[in-house]
Amino acid sequence: MTDHTQPAKFADLGLIPILVERLEELEYTQPTPIQSHTIPHLLEGRDFVGGANTGSGKTAAFALPILQKIYQQDSYLQKKTNTRRGNFVSHLVLVPTRELASQVAYNIKSYSYHLRHEIKTVAVFGGVSVNPQMLMLRGGCDIVVATPGRLLDLVSSNAINLEQVKTLVLDEADRMLSLGFAEELSKILALLPDNKQTLLFSATFPEKVTTLAQNLLNDPVEVQLQSAEASTLVQRVFSVNKGEKTAVLAHLIKENQWRQALIFVNAKNACNHLAQKLSKRGITAEVFHGDKGQGARTRVLEGFKSGEIHVLIATDIAARGLDIEKLPVVINFDLPRSPADYMHRIGRSGRAGEVGLGLSLIDYDDYHHFKVIEKKNKFRLEREQVAGFEVEDDQSEAYFAPMTPRPKPEGTGKKKKKRRQ
Ligand code: AMP
Repeated sequence: MTDHTQPAKFADLGLIPILVERLEELEYTQPTPIQSHTIPHLLEGRDFVGGANTGSGKTAAFALPILQKIYQQDSYLQKKTNTRRGNFVSHLVLVPTRELASQVAYNIKSYSYHLRHEIKTVAVFGGVSVNPQMLMLRGGCDIVVATPGRLLDLVSSNAINLEQVKTLVLDEADRMLSLGFAEELSKILALLPDNKQTLLFSATFPEKVTTLAQNLLNDPVEVQLQSAEASTLVQRVFSVNKGEKTAVLAHLIKENQWRQALIFVNAKNACNHLAQKLSKRGITAEVFHGDKGQGARTRVLEGFKSGEIHVLIATDIAARGLDIEKLPVVINFDLPRSPADYMHRIGRSGRAGEVGLGLSLIDYDDYHHFKVIEKKNKFRLEREQVAGFEVEDDQSEAYFAPMTPRPKPEGTGKKKKKRRQ
């Protein structure tokens, strides 16, 4: 843990005026806690592992020092020419989803707006044609924001060379270091030089991942800021009768008149199914999941970000990192299997200091799993009921009864073998 007190200005963190000026234009009046704890260390060239809630300003925390490094060290200013060449990339940001790749690249471009003729940032991700991305990479680039699969495709077709990477960022690092990405990530790491600055950012750091992360980092600065940041997000959980979730959801949407709501379910077909059921109750909802083409995914997301779409039903591909301004509520219609995903999902609301609400609907079958989610994430919520949809008496007892192990039917257990003396 570092003991920086939070400075009032970006300039106090050591950032150069051309970047500070841009932040003023973006109305970033003050650094967020993760920014003030991160930026000075990154400017010193330290490796870094940062645990901060999603929506806390992580992108600027790592992007600003990278931009400054390019501006000051990559010597294009001194030579009046940039140092990009061939198909080399200097700074690599790895993210788990396509949407996050384009969002992070968009933000970096925005932060470097006054340097747009000098700093080249490219997003590469799957699901869209590779050719425009190949063209963009031609002549090398300063920053590439990539999903692992497409990056490896581009490496194998010689469109990009990772041998001169100076900074590696793993955004949503717990996901990047999980089993799902293990193979791709180890291939990418093998292509990178040893001598580089490595930065890991994530809202959650399960223990297994922390061990893996230590192997990637060299004497890192560690900062954890979860608790202070979490205060803008209110969590609630409603007990509902089995089979009544849709009715309760429709009721809550209508009664609360939320400007927008993001609803999570666990399967692609469940998105369409729930959208149809809500439509019968007079609520129009769009769906967002991995079976939709990239064009449709982008359109839906843009529609939701711009506020045109009011209700969006999504699978966990929308759980990570997406920045939807002033999203008032995230609803877990289905609970996520992983407790870490619970935090990522609700983290779509209450971003950048806005007040947000993370709401879960649990029926009898979810009850035990919600307790696991609470335990792993170290919180405990009061079970609430929705007026007009009270949980039936006999069930409600079950909700609040302590979990007791079910007795095993007699005769089914294996007999213990007697140890020979
Ligand atoms: P991120 O965690 O990087 O996705 O950022 C979450 C949101 O906070 C984005 O909409 C950013 O534009 C915004 N943001 C980041 N840093 C600041 C800041 N210092 N002041 C105000 N907004 C910020």
